[in-house]
Order: sequence, then C-alpha cells, then structure tokens
Amino acid sequence: MIKCIVCKSKNPDYAEYCLKCGVKIIKAWTPSERIEFYRSCLQKITSEGGEGNFVVFTIPGDLFIQFAGEVNNPTVVLDIPYQNIPPGKAYVLERVIYAETGKTPYRGEMSYQAEMNVEQAAQITETLFRQLYNLPENYPLTSVELVLE
Ligand SMILES: [Zn+2]
Repeated sequence: MIKCIVCKSKNPDYAEYCLKCGVKIIKAWTPSERIEFYRSCLQKITSEGGEGNFVVFTIPGDLFIQFAGEVNNPTVVLDIPYQNIPPGKAYVLERVIYAETGKTPYRGEMSYQAEMNVEQAAQITETLFRQLYNLPENYPLTSVELVLE
C-alpha cells in the first residue's frame, strides 16, 4: 500500500495515480513534475482561501519548507526553521534564494524568511530540498499540508 501524500488515502502498490484524488503517486515523480506540483499548491495559496493560507512540503526526516500566502496577493513568504538547516549549509540557502529572487533572506527569530513569487517559490523549493539535503532526483515527499483560510 502507498499512502497518497495529498489526501492520505491508501493506494495499491501498482497505482500510478491516487484512486481517490487523482494526484500522481509520488514514487514516479520527476523533478519537473514535482515543481509543477509545488507551483499548483503555491498558486492556490495566492488565489483561494483568505489571509492565513499556507502550504507545508515535508520530506523524510520531518524536514519541511513552508510558505504563507493570501488570496489575491502574488507574493508568498518562504519560511524555513533554522533547525531544519544542516550545519554549515546556511550559505546554500542564501545563495539559492539570492540567485532566484535577487534578495537575501531575512533572518527571523526562529527561521529564515523570504518573499517571492509563485514561480520562484516552486523552483526554490525543488533546489533547496536537493541541495540542502543532498537528495537524489527521485526524492519522495512524505506529506503536503495545504491550508486555505
Ligand atoms: Zn490522493
């Protein structure tokens, strides 16, 4: 059985698409499919719900990248807790965010934060997961929490 990361329903091992919600089963995702998925979630937090929208993308080890957003505002705010950044890797985060947005992330009390648009956010999520944690091209997501409120 494979648990769908979006709707949490269980699917048989052979399933390519979730039988309940139709999302492609994660084991088969390529980087571009993942970016497309990130983009679609990020799109939702800028176009639906209310002022307290957020999405959290999580990989094994409970490592996550989250974004806050609000309806009718194209800017999302990335938030990565300091504790999720491997020792000595803060420069990777700063470099990736600067390369994509031209801005240096803000150092909050508990986390790094940065404002960006949806397209930048989708690319940055993929690049950060791969480069911060040295993940292979077919890395899995363990959960996606999308809250629209
Ligand atoms: Zn599903």
